[in-house]
Amino acid sequence: MSADRLSLALLGATGSIGASTLDVVARHPGRYGVFALCAHSSAPALLDLCRRHRPRYAVLSGLAENADLRRAYAEQTGSELLFGSRALEQIAGHPDCDTVMAAIVGAAGLASALAAARAGKRVLLANKEALVLAGAPFMRAVREAGATLLPIDSEHNAVFQCLPPGGSGTAALAAVRRVVLTASGGPFRAAPLARLEQVTPDEACAHPNWVMGRKISVDSATMMNKGLEVIEARWLFDLPPERIDVLIHPQSIVHSLVEYVDGSVLAQLSNPDMRVPIAHALAYPGRIDSGARPLDLGAIGQLAFERPDLERFPCLQLAYEALRAGGSSPAILNAANEVAVEAFLCGRLRFTAIARVIAETLQQVPCGDADSLEAVLEADARARRAATALAARRQGKAA
Ligand code: NAD
Ligand code: MG
Repeated sequence: MSADRLSLALLGATGSIGASTLDVVARHPGRYGVFALCAHSSAPALLDLCRRHRPRYAVLSGLAENADLRRAYAEQTGSELLFGSRALEQIAGHPDCDTVMAAIVGAAGLASALAAARAGKRVLLANKEALVLAGAPFMRAVREAGATLLPIDSEHNAVFQCLPPGGSGTAALAAVRRVVLTASGGPFRAAPLARLEQVTPDEACAHPNWVMGRKISVDSATMMNKGLEVIEARWLFDLPPERIDVLIHPQSIVHSLVEYVDGSVLAQLSNPDMRVPIAHALAYPGRIDSGARPLDLGAIGQLAFERPDLERFPCLQLAYEALRAGGSSPAILNAANEVAVEAFLCGRLRFTAIARVIAETLQQVPCGDADSLEAVLEADARARRAATALAARRQGKAA
């Protein structure tokens, strides 16, 4: 691989962020080499991507060693296929790869994202759950290894673009009064509150502006996604919760804002298309074509904003409370949310019970410290057990 060609490992290649990343990469063939493509268990989908992008390695982290598959990949794509979740960490820390896109969904993405940070890589972080779970150890690994952390979440990417160059140093942040994360409000922003008891997984996943994986789509409908993003912003930009606000902006054109002490407010705008933050992070500090449609404000006409209604979106309130409680509370919140969302997607829990299961889990599982990976994984496991029991108890009952 030539010295000026970035060598990219894509964790979560078969997902929504994975597809957008490969779309941007394919627009710039001389610039990025695909070092590895990783997926959980969808062998045919990954094989198809490997045929197109010819990575040196492919990983199926959810499957055990399988000689037939390994042979099929080698013969059809020239890629060496690895199995099991440890392979993700090996790839993320591999000396021949310099850039890691961490786009696995959920807490399952933490270990490999952390491995990339520890190896001092350029880490393109879509997996917000890694920072929610392990913000302190993750940011410590980034500092100690000299990794470059670039946010992919559109709101955090927007904040990053609006901060002074050099980002989140103490002097730069002294000039920032607050950051404002925008949220679309999801599909139920204006639905009658009584309707929320009955909404189905497909309705919750029908996001008005973005096409995303099912878990983050439900998080957007409950606004837990914004809650997780508030916690993510706390770690990425080293800001306390009282300097991170949320504003509903149904069109998803203004991706976030930074307010300075002199009253200036800077915002980043684009059409809602994840290829914009992905292209920004891939090319940073340069700029490349993302493939996104140019923004035509004249055609859009008006941009609207409103404050979030915490009665409608209790998950947002729960996330702020967990952030203020500190320690392992955000990890407990995140684990309970993953369990509750999964139960909702499988038809075992009502939409409105998601917040109740999370609140009860936070009450039941004691908050501990979150200074090490072991401590957060222990909190994650305890919270999953508690949330699973709480969700099962509600099954069939009127939530
Ligand atoms: P997705 O469900 O579309 O894809 C998830 C990917 O992770 C798939 O490639 C899957 O194979 C892999 N995966 C799933 N479980 C795994 C496991 N246990 N171990 C290893 N790999 C596993 O998800 P997505 O929408 O692309 O989201 C990915 C991440 O990016 C999430 O953390 C999400 O919050 C974040 N994000 C997504 C968007 C978006 O527009 N989709 C926007 C901002 C942030
Ligand atoms: Mg986001």
